[in-house]
Amino acid sequence: MPCMSIEFVKSRIRDWGIEVDPLCSFCRTSVEDDFHLIFGCCFSQFVWRYMLRCIGFTRGALRDWDWDFETSWCINHFQQGDSLAHSIYRLVFNACIYHLWYECNKRVFNSTFSTEMQVISRITQDIRLKLAGQNLWTEDSNKNRQLFNRWGINIDFLPPHVRTCT
Ligand SMILES: [Zn+2]
Repeated sequence: MPCMSIEFVKSRIRDWGIEVDPLCSFCRTSVEDDFHLIFGCCFSQFVWRYMLRCIGFTRGALRDWDWDFETSWCINHFQQGDSLAHSIYRLVFNACIYHLWYECNKRVFNSTFSTEMQVISRITQDIRLKLAGQNLWTEDSNKNRQLFNRWGINIDFLPPHVRTCT
């Protein structure tokens, strides 16, 4: 996944030797670092969990969450597959990272704040726009129908591929 070396604003500024408020731009209770901003903060976890539910995943206990665990989980569930559903999983992952980073920057540089639901709205809007107007099709299955109905994406469902034994 391309975000492995992502570095957020305060981490980078600290690396330059400049004093900066160490508290998280979202919750203002923990030290802000890359892991906390993406997976550890209550703000990010709300966004992340909401978006995972939108693609049909429910996650376990929060105490298991750490950078390596989460990125490995994403690689295992999102990267290994060439279906349209997997493309949407990867779009959701990338859009979550981008919009959390964007929201953090807005707070640091512009002192403007969005709620978790506003961030989620931007993520879903980006993904719908990315898919709008494309001639999409996928294999017909209950899982695919639920996913694309949940997103309100128009798509052609093709009969499942029939394999014959020889
Ligand atoms: Zn936080």
